[in-house]
Amino acid sequence: MKNRKIFLSPPHMSGKELEYIQRVFESNYIAPLGEYVDKFEESIRKRTGAKHVLALNSGTSAIHLALRVLGIQPGDYVLASSFTFIGSVAPILYQGATPIFIDSDSSWNLSPKLLEEFLKNWKKETPKALIVTHLYGQMAQIDKILEICNRYGITLIEDSAESLGASFKGQESGTFGEFGIYSFNGNKILTTSGGGILVGKSEKDIAKARFLSTQAKENFLHYEHVEFGYNYRLSNVLASIGVAQMEVLQERIDRRRAIFKRYFQNLHDIADFMPEIENSIGNRWLTTLTFRKNVDIEKTIHKLQQFNIETRPLWKPMHLQPLFRDAISYVDGTSEKLFSNGLCLPSGTAMSDDEVDFVSEQIRKVVDDI
Ligand SMILES: *Cc1c(COP(=O)(O)O)cnc(C)c1O
Repeated sequence: MKNRKIFLSPPHMSGKELEYIQRVFESNYIAPLGEYVDKFEESIRKRTGAKHVLALNSGTSAIHLALRVLGIQPGDYVLASSFTFIGSVAPILYQGATPIFIDSDSSWNLSPKLLEEFLKNWKKETPKALIVTHLYGQMAQIDKILEICNRYGITLIEDSAESLGASFKGQESGTFGEFGIYSFNGNKILTTSGGGILVGKSEKDIAKARFLSTQAKENFLHYEHVEFGYNYRLSNVLASIGVAQMEVLQERIDRRRAIFKRYFQNLHDIADFMPEIENSIGNRWLTTLTFRKNVDIEKTIHKLQQFNIETRPLWKPMHLQPLFRDAISYVDGTSEKLFSNGLCLPSGTAMSDDEVDFVSEQIRKVVDDI
């Protein structure tokens, strides 16, 4: 008999979701506002310590609103991690601005050294913002990055889509920058099936983002519009799922970290795992590794599929994407090398230890064969 399919990172419900959805239905607030939207925002405020919180329909929308509130426009430069997912950086294009991609270092996340070097040599207008991703749930060197941003007058936006609940020196991911975002897409550590959160230090900025997220309707009885907005708010139904999910965030982080530890014990002789920087605690959203020997990643993924195991390559760096063929980048080959020999392992919190061992065993066999 074949084992059940082991997905990369499937949704894992807490058990309370249906009860809360039921309550939403009883209230008939089947709308992008309501009690559970407020509760969801409050749960984020409580856990992360973020000052101001806005629930939205996706993490990508959250990044877009941050850029819009900052007034990013054509002709502006926006720095970003190259080693990330497209949702991090597509909003730069929505605003007609110009992205500049910075490579990673041995932390796998954005290199403060390359960032500083780039800025020292850059002769044109100073970039307005930096979008830094905490990849796979592991903290970037946020203290150094923030210090550089402050020195150059660059606004920091943290893409914490993958790193909800991670922390550096006890401070939560997403709360260092002027803005931070979280994603509740279907494969993230928590999910609302689709959803996002924007957090910010300035009450005024988040109020502006809230205004823009509901079609920028002015405060009149009729519909009056001075500028255009978006339809980006989160449904009360989905927010109720988010409230139930937030109740188990710490359990989910503990389990992801335990899964990582088990993979590490099983495979550390043949692979290097994404590190956790000093003074930080990652959420280990996905366990990720690179192989010591040269391995054909596509072939490995196909072979593991035959055992009903879903794996995925690491993110293909943005500076290697056809979309960004002509974009400016400051790179030293680090993320390209990671991409060429790296793999994301199944890391869903409902996985058993036996399944982690089974996946590890199959990986070892496949890599031995290649
Ligand atoms: C998932 C993700 C996003 C986008 O979030 P959505 O909610 O899917 O729009 C952005 N950045 C990173 C790094 C992500 O992993």
